[in-house]
Amino acid sequence: MTVKLIGIEEMRGTLKVLESGLRIGGSKENIGIGETDNPIIRHPITNSPYVPGSSIKGKIRSLLELRDCRASQNYGTPCDCGECPVCNLFGHPHIKKREAPPSRLLFRDCQPNQTTIKDWQEAGRDSEVKMEVLIDRRSNTAKGNIGPRATERIPAGGEFDFSLVIRLFEGDDPSKFYRYLADGFELLGRDYLGGYGSRGYGHVAFVAEDGTPFSEYLRKKAGKAS
Ligand SMILES: [Zn+2]
Repeated sequence: MTVKLIGIEEMRGTLKVLESGLRIGGSKENIGIGETDNPIIRHPITNSPYVPGSSIKGKIRSLLELRDCRASQNYGTPCDCGECPVCNLFGHPHIKKREAPPSRLLFRDCQPNQTTIKDWQEAGRDSEVKMEVLIDRRSNTAKGNIGPRATERIPAGGEFDFSLVIRLFEGDDPSKFYRYLADGFELLGRDYLGGYGSRGYGHVAFVAEDGTPFSEYLRKKAGKAS
């Protein structure tokens, strides 16, 4: 099977952290005295919080799999059928078939935009530490031996430059891919990104360059491509 690349398209936009904070866990190796033991991921050079493209890709993939793929619904495993839209768009690392096509999507890491960097500089901080406690059900007080636990997160209102690359191969139907991807972004908007979603963290919105929700932008694009 030959795979001939016929186009690479990049779409840009903004990832917005909505009313609650966003938490994507980082490494505990480099924490200093007085810092939380539950830090967020930061850029190794600038030390600014960022949102890894892999976190977005993985989350959208898993939501689409939960909706459409039997293996994921039954066993919680990634789809590796090699034929469905999820496999075609996101790739299938576990498949051993030589004829498996390469993945079409590339999510770049999202760095904070200029407005957000300025906001953080003015505030003198780029994250918040939220204290959470476990409540003793009988006394209705904090259980001393377990909490409080300090969790770092990106504050609400943060904005990040977002970029998605799609590679198109001969025989692909771009409009089908855009529509499918639009569903994925819509699901993510209703679900959450990062950790602690059940506690309200990770409500995000993706906005396209023209100011429309990214899912809408993709559907418009699908309309033009078909
Ligand atoms: Zn599949």
